[in-house]
Amino acid sequence: MSATPLYGGIEAGGTKWVCAVADAGGRVLETGVIPTTTPGTTIAGAVRFFRRHRTLRAVGVGSFGPVDLRPDSPAYGHILATPKPGWSHTDVVSPLRTALGVPVGLDTDVNAAALGEWRRGAGRGRETVAYLTVGTGIGLGAVVNGRLLRGLLHPEFGHIRVPRDRTRDAFAGSCPFHGDCLEGLASGEAMRQRWGRRAEDLDDPAVWELEAGYLAHAVVNLTYVLSPERIVIGGGVAKRPGLLSRIRARAFDLAAGYPAAPALTVRAAMDEYVVGPELGDHSGITGAIELGMCS
Ligand code: ZN
Repeated sequence: MSATPLYGGIEAGGTKWVCAVADAGGRVLETGVIPTTTPGTTIAGAVRFFRRHRTLRAVGVGSFGPVDLRPDSPAYGHILATPKPGWSHTDVVSPLRTALGVPVGLDTDVNAAALGEWRRGAGRGRETVAYLTVGTGIGLGAVVNGRLLRGLLHPEFGHIRVPRDRTRDAFAGSCPFHGDCLEGLASGEAMRQRWGRRAEDLDDPAVWELEAGYLAHAVVNLTYVLSPERIVIGGGVAKRPGLLSRIRARAFDLAAGYPAAPALTVRAAMDEYVVGPELGDHSGITGAIELGMCS
């Protein structure tokens, strides 16, 4: 067995945990997938995966949330109240740290994706980068001035308010808390409820123009709050061909040239400002490995 130091990453999702080990340069050497069942079984599966690597130095976890990330909190490393059955108040960090005997870093799945894109993807060389995921739900991760964005808890950008297009959209929204917040209007689940079919089965251009309008509001709000140098939009819904172009066009119009940053005043610059993930589906696991390296 090689004596090369290895770093582990876990993309801990609600349906599967993707585990990977990489060398110090971030080159992934092995991956494994564990179905998300009960916490005990799932965590034990991850421990089995990593135990085979005797030179493991650290593990990073990008977890579905909400998670407690405050280092001084008694619940640090726990998943908080979640609709995922059996997982509320689960300690994810301690069992891994105890069983593997290495430091364990933790952040949200979407902050991990932001970190991955910042270190090795579309955000390389920039100070402040936002990663917006549009899938079943909507989430935001960000690196701000070279640090992952945390605070009270972690960003819950999916729940910001955007104006509902009342002339074209009679749907009241799918969010159980807020109805027509951003996630309630523009997530994959919102699309399924509004149109009666999954997002990937919807081909009417009007559907995608409405979707682009909501996400353009998100892009402009994000620009005004965080002032990122680049916004990466990932997630299953965002894979729809042509959607990014529609979002860029609408965001450019909504910003109306204010402030006088190139992305908002030169239409072609918007193409470089709002982009897809350079790492494709690997942003999250790449960032999880990076979380391990920084832990
Ligand atoms: Zn909401």
